[in-house]
Amino acid sequence: MINVYYEADADLAVLRNKPLAVLGYGSQGHAHALNLKDSGMNVCVGLRSGSPSWTKAESEGLAVKTVAEAAEWAEVIMVLLPDQHQKKVYEQDIAPHLKPGDTLAFAHGFNIHYDQIAAPHDVNVMMIAPKGPGHLVRRVYQEGQGVPCLIAVHQDPSGDTKALALAWSKGIGGTRAGVIETNFKDETETDLFGEQAVLCGGSAELIKAGFETLVEAGYPPELAFFECLHEMKLIVDLYYEGGLARMNDSVSDTAEYGGMTRGSRIINQESRRAMKQILKEVQDGTFAREWIKENADGQPLMNRLREATRTHPVEQIGAQLRKMMSWIAKDKKPAKQVA
Ligand code: NAD
Ligand code: MG
Repeated sequence: MINVYYEADADLAVLRNKPLAVLGYGSQGHAHALNLKDSGMNVCVGLRSGSPSWTKAESEGLAVKTVAEAAEWAEVIMVLLPDQHQKKVYEQDIAPHLKPGDTLAFAHGFNIHYDQIAAPHDVNVMMIAPKGPGHLVRRVYQEGQGVPCLIAVHQDPSGDTKALALAWSKGIGGTRAGVIETNFKDETETDLFGEQAVLCGGSAELIKAGFETLVEAGYPPELAFFECLHEMKLIVDLYYEGGLARMNDSVSDTAEYGGMTRGSRIINQESRRAMKQILKEVQDGTFAREWIKENADGQPLMNRLREATRTHPVEQIGAQLRKMMSWIAKDKKPAKQVA
């Protein structure tokens, strides 16, 4: 049985007398830092000197220090840097300043689970992972509610790490919604599998394959774009609001019947075998080793794949057709790592 915690299960007092550092001021960083400050906590932000976020964080009322200064000052250090940079920053600017009894915190388990970061045994290690992007964590908190969080404890020399994780969750609003207890292994492996097989990898390939099938059969790319990419949002919003049933309730009976009788020919036994293999590569560390090496090499494959995506016909026609849709923000930066 999974444990779920709410407001009454968490006590902010365990954090109130501690200096807290949030390293990074991106999607998650700004939300954690601002919510904790508004919850009355003694929080500072740790950034690289010269970081463009420095003045932004200060203008939003936060104390800012360098990463090393913040790590030295704080007793709880939340690492909200891009996952692929965490090991280096940890070794250079965090590890030298860790004292027995300090707590190191993460919002995703990759670096701990795959042994990229090994904290000293007298340091607590915990995770607080909101199940939503940072701008939502901030906005919903300001509205008086919260985004559900996962928490996990990896090392607990002080014996109260779970209480600290619950308090941090409360400070960012998570216990208003509900906090689910997990462990670093399950969070990391399900997160990677989900983004690879379903959310990012699976959905993008489904869109491209559908688009190419129609275009190769001689249909106009404009129609293929609307049917295979654009309308995906309407469907996903229905899943989000009310699951598979709400999607089926909202589409026509023709679409519902066609989907239910044909979908499993697309995601068939072969697709399911591929999913199992992808999960295995996540579990046995094959994917992690590949991604760590890709970063060490300067992301050569990543750059090639980004270029291939950029030049795919569905992207070309999409850029044209989105100009016809005034309600779609033109300058929207993609929110990173929503998965
Ligand atoms: P982000 O890319 O939005 O922000 C990263 C921040 O780190 C930026 O302020 C950047 O300037 C700073 N930074 C980058 N390199 C640095 C360095 N070498 N030294 C110091 N600062 C540096 O990242 P994010 O999406 O907020 O992700 C942070 C963590 O939260 C990750 O572990 C991620 O897996 C996790 N997470 C993200 C989401 C999400 O929706 N974005 C959700 C749950 C968990
Ligand atoms: Mg995720």
